[in-house]
Amino acid sequence: MTQVKVNNFKATCDQFERAADVLGLEENLSKSLMMPDRELAVEVPLVKEDGSLNVFQGYRIQHNNARGPFKGGIRFHEEVDLDEVRALASLMTWKTALVDIPYGGGKGGITVDPRTLTKRELERLSRTFFRKISPVIGVNRDIPAPDVNTNAQIMAWFMDEYSQTHGYSPAIVTGKPIELGGSLGREAATGRGVSITVRETAKVFNVDLSSSSCVIQGFGNVGTYAAKFLTEMGAKVIGVSDVSGGLCDNNGLDIPVLIDYAKKNRVIEGFNGGKSISNEELLALDCDFLIPAALGGVIHKMNADSLNCKFVIEAANGPTTPPGDEILWGKKIPVIPDILTNAGGVTVSYFEWVQNLQQFRWDEETVNEKLETKMVSAFNEVNEMRNEKNVSFRTAAFMVAIERVAKSVELRGF
Ligand code: NAD
Repeated sequence: MTQVKVNNFKATCDQFERAADVLGLEENLSKSLMMPDRELAVEVPLVKEDGSLNVFQGYRIQHNNARGPFKGGIRFHEEVDLDEVRALASLMTWKTALVDIPYGGGKGGITVDPRTLTKRELERLSRTFFRKISPVIGVNRDIPAPDVNTNAQIMAWFMDEYSQTHGYSPAIVTGKPIELGGSLGREAATGRGVSITVRETAKVFNVDLSSSSCVIQGFGNVGTYAAKFLTEMGAKVIGVSDVSGGLCDNNGLDIPVLIDYAKKNRVIEGFNGGKSISNEELLALDCDFLIPAALGGVIHKMNADSLNCKFVIEAANGPTTPPGDEILWGKKIPVIPDILTNAGGVTVSYFEWVQNLQQFRWDEETVNEKLETKMVSAFNEVNEMRNEKNVSFRTAAFMVAIERVAKSVELRGF
């Protein structure tokens, strides 16, 4: 699959500036909101089990905390760099503001391929990294979470590392195991939010969800839960893919069976059902809702014109490059942006933090109801802004978010 390596932070700044211009934001305020507040780069040494010393590069970038503590995940990936982490930190500021939760935006990561590490090495690397960034994090300062290649176990190690010096502190990270204060409903939250976004889009454009078709790229946490909830809503999932390739069936894939298969085999390759296709062919399938839920930069100027969907629902972070976005705008394909579509995850992370601070657990129904309210209200605000200002869903989403952050900055003072 072609994936375009974009200058991520520049792309995010372009999206920001477009919205700031429509809002008529004062130039100096605009510049100040665009740049991160603080950037921490750390060296993360690791003595491997064979005795060799390896040194990795780590980052924690705190973009803005006008509305609450910095909030954002930690990614372990060989392509992590300053530019990518900056962009993701900035997106978190706008995402948390858009769903109106009292957080700012941050992101972190280590440039490492975790598949090359043993479990003990991964634990030591995680703990060292957390000690290195500990001067800038805190329960009311900066609250990390999982992202690509980090999970509940790694959050448990982070929480333990911090609690050793600060006392039992579950609210220092979210996305923890349920046994250590994780929230019910967190695992499914992003996919649930994606399905709510599809449902609300269908309502606005008078599409009958029960006779609609969806194609999902990426069959991990977000992709599988989105597929499950969309199927339950009556939509037909006619194509899915993962790193091993894609499958399609115009009559609809058997999603519950495919999810079981992918859990057991880690990939969808070899599944007995549907026709095998490449990821590139998957993106071009004729469907109502195309849902990229894997990587950034997958819809770009070389392939955007070949899309045959009615809507793009951005479940992954940054799946559409700015030139790709322009082409889709020209083709009149609405793109529901990442900062709205995948905000369900950080919303339930916020619920987890609230439960930790109260030392009280909510039942899953309560979590899901509150998530539903947040997603629908953010969707409606974006849609109203879009209609009022005649802009894209993405620009409207940035406008709603920027207005909130700018107001808080002005009220707090420089
Ligand atoms: P995951 O690791 O669970 O799943 C990723 C999926 O993408 C896997 O099925 C993998 O096989 C597939 N994939 C990897 N490389 C691919 C390729 N070249 N072509 C096609 N598929 C490929 O990750 P996830 O948690 O589901 O996250 C997916 C996206 O959603 C990421 O962009 C992430 O930043 C974003 N996101 C996740 C959450 C969350 O709560 N998990 C929240 C917000 C945003």
